[in-house]
Amino acid sequence: MLRLVKIGAEGEGPCADIMEIRRPDDLVDITNLGLTLAEAKLLLAGVQREIVAAQAGGHAVRRPECPRCDGVCRVKDYRDHAVATLFGVVTVRLPRFRCAACGGIEAGIAWPAHCRSTPELDRLQAHLCALMTYRTAAGLLEQMFPVDAGKHHETLRRHTLRIGEALGDYVATRPETAAVAIAVTLDSTFIRSCEGGVRHLEVRVGNVETQSGGRQVFGAVAKAGTDIRALLRRNLDAVGRTEDTALTAFTDGCPGLRRILADAGVAEPPILDWFHIAMRLQHLKQIASALPVDDPARVAAKALIVEEVERLHWRIWNGKAKDAQISIDRIRAVVHHFQGEPDQRRSTAPSRKLWTALRALDGYLTSQSAWLVNYAERHRAGLRVGTAITEGTANFLVNRRMNKSQQMRWSRRGADLLLQVPCAVYNGTLGSGFGQKFQPVNYTYPQMATAA
Ligand SMILES: [Zn+2]
Repeated sequence: MLRLVKIGAEGEGPCADIMEIRRPDDLVDITNLGLTLAEAKLLLAGVQREIVAAQAGGHAVRRPECPRCDGVCRVKDYRDHAVATLFGVVTVRLPRFRCAACGGIEAGIAWPAHCRSTPELDRLQAHLCALMTYRTAAGLLEQMFPVDAGKHHETLRRHTLRIGEALGDYVATRPETAAVAIAVTLDSTFIRSCEGGVRHLEVRVGNVETQSGGRQVFGAVAKAGTDIRALLRRNLDAVGRTEDTALTAFTDGCPGLRRILADAGVAEPPILDWFHIAMRLQHLKQIASALPVDDPARVAAKALIVEEVERLHWRIWNGKAKDAQISIDRIRAVVHHFQGEPDQRRSTAPSRKLWTALRALDGYLTSQSAWLVNYAERHRAGLRVGTAITEGTANFLVNRRMNKSQQMRWSRRGADLLLQVPCAVYNGTLGSGFGQKFQPVNYTYPQMATAA
């Protein structure tokens, strides 16, 4: 028998029997060891009920001062409040007071209006919903905790989106020390839409990072209500941006993202991030290495192509993107050796793939030339060269939760509000009890070793 005894200043007070626990004495079977989950849940719910009852009892003997006339309040009547907690729904019986002097009504509690759950439960639910589907989160909570009534996945979805909405009003607290330099990265990814007219929704994600390791992430679904520019400014404030802070921005080639950065006050033109270039070069290398070598001319041509792709990589990495054209032209000059394959007409043929990838890279470098820098020089100086961290952030914030299944489809508004929750979890702004959940992604640049 488990009994809860209240011990006050005067010694032992009233006690309450929580539950009777019957477990076998023998341990022949390992399943006999200790409490079962079902018992633990009953136990937690029972303890919670008694603690709440004792708190309500203590609360009821208080006589608040009237906030209007400083008169003495008397109990007017009692009201029952059903509140969902992490350890079950409890019914709290609380007095309402009336001022003896002015007759004003005083609640005696500073709870939010229509409060039906504890902030801790709200936060845990939102946190889980940021990581897994509403249905899975509801199932997990039901498995682990004596959370009972109204934990349908639809309820969880509504709660989580409401928290996402409330996070829109969050005001950043500026740190005491100003940031000397901040790296801003902005990228976009896509999720499937459940709304008519569009197949995909664009999701912009980014992060701001100081040299001392301060880091904030943010995200918003395009045209959904959350202003990504305001988010960016708020996150810059949160890591200590001042007028003197040097801002360096990275994006992929999308003009829309550059405009957002400019609108948010990042004056310097953003750098085309190395991560995106490196992915394209990697693709080109894979195609080159798959070229057939079934006659001496092809052996020679392939060797030249592989070498030129390496040189192309080196040139871009070292800020000599203007010379990239030389490499591209040299490769083009020998591509014809790989034509005439049996399956040449298909786009999967190596020569066709090489031709297509080469043209795509050429177009990319030409259109992005204004944003290319000497990456090698930056890297040697210990400066950031790309937004690989944002790629990781996109995975954490968006892809894992919103893109995991091809069947998952999102409404613009729903995805946008939900996205605010993992950002807050990550930034440690979803209630003080949670803090950072994810480890930063320490991406290294393996391609550089061969380039530099
Ligand atoms: Zn009064």
